Amino acid sequence: MGEETVSKNFIEQEIDKDLAEGVYQEVCTRFPPEPNGYLHIGHAKSIILNSGLAKKYNGTFHLRFDDTNPTKEDMEFVESIKADVEWLGADFKDHLYYASDYFPVMYECAVKLIKKGKAFVCDLSPEEIREYRGTLKEPGKNSPYRDRPVEENLKLFEEMKNGVYKDGEKVLRAKIDMASPNINMRDPVIYRVAHMTHHNTGNQWCIYPMYDFAHPIEDAVEKITHSICTLEFEDHRPLYDWVVRECEFDPAPRQIEFAKLYLTNVVTGKRYIKKLVEDGIVDGWDDPRLVSIAALRRRGFTPESLRMFVELCGVSKAQGSVDYAMLEYCIREDLKMKRSRMMAVLDPIKLVIDNYPEEETEWLEAENNLENEALGKRKLPFCRELYIERDDFMIEPPKKYFRLFPGNEVRLMQAYFVKCTDYETDAEGNVTVVHCTYDPETKSGSGFTGRKVKGTIHWVAAPYAKQAEVRLYENLIDEEKGVYNEEDGSMNINPNSLEVRKNCYVEPNFDGAKAYDSFQFVRTGYFCIDAKDSTPDALVFNRIVSLKSSFKLPK
Ligand code: ATP
Ligand code: MG
Repeated sequence: MGEETVSKNFIEQEIDKDLAEGVYQEVCTRFPPEPNGYLHIGHAKSIILNSGLAKKYNGTFHLRFDDTNPTKEDMEFVESIKADVEWLGADFKDHLYYASDYFPVMYECAVKLIKKGKAFVCDLSPEEIREYRGTLKEPGKNSPYRDRPVEENLKLFEEMKNGVYKDGEKVLRAKIDMASPNINMRDPVIYRVAHMTHHNTGNQWCIYPMYDFAHPIEDAVEKITHSICTLEFEDHRPLYDWVVRECEFDPAPRQIEFAKLYLTNVVTGKRYIKKLVEDGIVDGWDDPRLVSIAALRRRGFTPESLRMFVELCGVSKAQGSVDYAMLEYCIREDLKMKRSRMMAVLDPIKLVIDNYPEEETEWLEAENNLENEALGKRKLPFCRELYIERDDFMIEPPKKYFRLFPGNEVRLMQAYFVKCTDYETDAEGNVTVVHCTYDPETKSGSGFTGRKVKGTIHWVAAPYAKQAEVRLYENLIDEEKGVYNEEDGSMNINPNSLEVRKNCYVEPNFDGAKAYDSFQFVRTGYFCIDAKDSTPDALVFNRIVSLKSSFKLPK
């Protein structure tokens, strides 16, 4: 008894083992983004996983910008990534690092390898290096420069550093094994010449380390214990271990791989999102239909909902794809107790209560959240003219339609019973006004038990309501066809992924509501104030998710 019953994922089991065997005394993890794009839901998984492990084991979590590649990096992304990681709740206070700060250490490591006879300067061209490398079936061939004496290698490498050679003219290679069945071990290039300006180090360096050499050193310098990465690096692990060992780092960090998170029918590739932005299909990287972290935030997802999602997905070695509906499940679960349930009419028609006094307004008291009293109550104005949803009225209702139709009585939520007496239409036959009478005896909360009605509808008081814009979303991708078109790699875009409703009415209780605030709208879903386009006088809401779904949690 008293034993921990929560099952541990495979990474936690490995960490437990390492701690029990005394390989490490404490746990240190990292999230190492390249600052070359916005983070997406997959990165969120890595951030939540790594920072969560550090927290669970009372260890440390590092945010490290892997900025060793000067061509692709952009400072703009550094700030957006920091904001995203912080928003997710990962604590990197006092532990923010830049891999480019380690260029001197990496250089020293390279020199050390040369001195040990474990690295050599190679003059083969990139094409020749590729030819010499061999294939999966055939071993590679040794470079003719492989046996250069240590002194010559040291001199040439220093000259590479001093800018004596042009880009691509010489590289430094690890001397491992050209016959290895693992191609990554066939004397990989570890330094290249590149006369480029780096955002952090400027023109100080004209040689840059390759990822497979730089990354283990970054981890080792920071005393990372568990370097958690995605499955495509599994074949690189022998090289990772080789670099750590030959550079004589102690303690050695340990690489553990897990499967990437993929969402079904969702675009995450940078190249594709760029195209969607350029083609004007989405309004930037934070368009609420995308799954960049900025987009999820703008859509109204919370850090708690994303953490729940990552927890539910679990970590595994098996590649798979998760349904977007699971993400929706998590945000519903997170918001249901936390948010107020507001009246909003998204497709309004007027309802006139003909027997209600023209000048009168009653201020009714409404619970903010029936499941959570702590959210308190608010006042709702009620008067003669209201707006209701167009589909809450029908002239000729089908069977089992319990909302308004001529002669039928329904409850106006939080208010009175009303009975439909008449309606008006325009020249095309569209209903413009519904008339009804109310029964003052039936006020909500009055204990009236005289008769029952089968339908309850929501409403807002016309003279008090605020006009608002509401944006309703569907998947950006046509789910029938899948994300990519097999023939030409183009995307199958759903033409109805965005519906803008400019003529919605919301109750007058949104004063002070600010960007990212979210609410439940009765019957229509959870909505969030749009961070880009909403103003206090002209509110814009994004639908985060509808209220219901057929989604079932996987067993
Ligand atoms: P690229 O390498 O194409 O620029 P990337 O998505 O790999 O893009 P990185 O900045 O290298 O971006 O990734 C940072 C970290 O996020 C890495 O540790 C990587 O393993 C992890 N990561 C990236 N995509 C996913 C994903 N879909 N699921 C889980 N982790 C991911
Ligand atoms: Mg990467």
